[in-house]
Amino acid sequence: MNIIFLGAPGAGKGTHAARLKVEKGYPQISTGDMLRRNIAEGTPLGLAAKQYIDEGELVPDEVVIGMVKQRLAEADAQNGFVLDGFPRTVTQAQALDGIARIDVVLNLEVTEDTVLKRLSGRRVCTSCGSVFHTSRLEDETVCPLCGGKLMQRADDKPETILHRLEVYHEQTEPLIEYYDQAGLLINVQVDGDADDNYRDILKVLGI
Ligand code: AMP
Repeated sequence: MNIIFLGAPGAGKGTHAARLKVEKGYPQISTGDMLRRNIAEGTPLGLAAKQYIDEGELVPDEVVIGMVKQRLAEADAQNGFVLDGFPRTVTQAQALDGIARIDVVLNLEVTEDTVLKRLSGRRVCTSCGSVFHTSRLEDETVCPLCGGKLMQRADDKPETILHRLEVYHEQTEPLIEYYDQAGLLINVQVDGDADDNYRDILKVLGI
């Protein structure tokens, strides 16, 4: 099954896609992770993307479309995948229509209040990449899984979060209508507890 996770920043796209990967074997195709990896490795693509990401802007369509096209051609993506953070614009969705068949689009619905709480407390391990919330950490600086250093993403600073939400409303929200018209959209409420939300997602996907 080829799945898209749609939703505002902080809706839990990455969290649930990562869990689906571990528990159900669906490759998690996260454009945000791919871009951050390119930045960490200092590739030309990473250098081109860094400023957009740090300022909470979208990276230009042609950059991410090319990246996803390449990724979807890889062997592990031929038997299903979860797209996490792509598409984010109508132009990207139209390009995706020419690249892959999509079976279902889950729109993860979340209130702005939840987004602000989740993102401002999000910490990421610089060693293993695991993601945590400060409310569940004894020490906000050390990864409880591997002992690595926990950091706040540059784009999780309060002023950038608000801008990312604006960008989401302007550029990504129209995709709800786009995929509804295509008969692919299913809404899932994900304000509550992560385990409950994950269970709802499995139920909706029938897996
Ligand atoms: P994420 O990890 O999905 O929250 O993405 C972090 C940042 O990466 C976004 O705020 C954008 O700057 C960039 N990004 C990720 N996916 C896309 C995309 N599909 N189109 C444009 N920019 C993207």
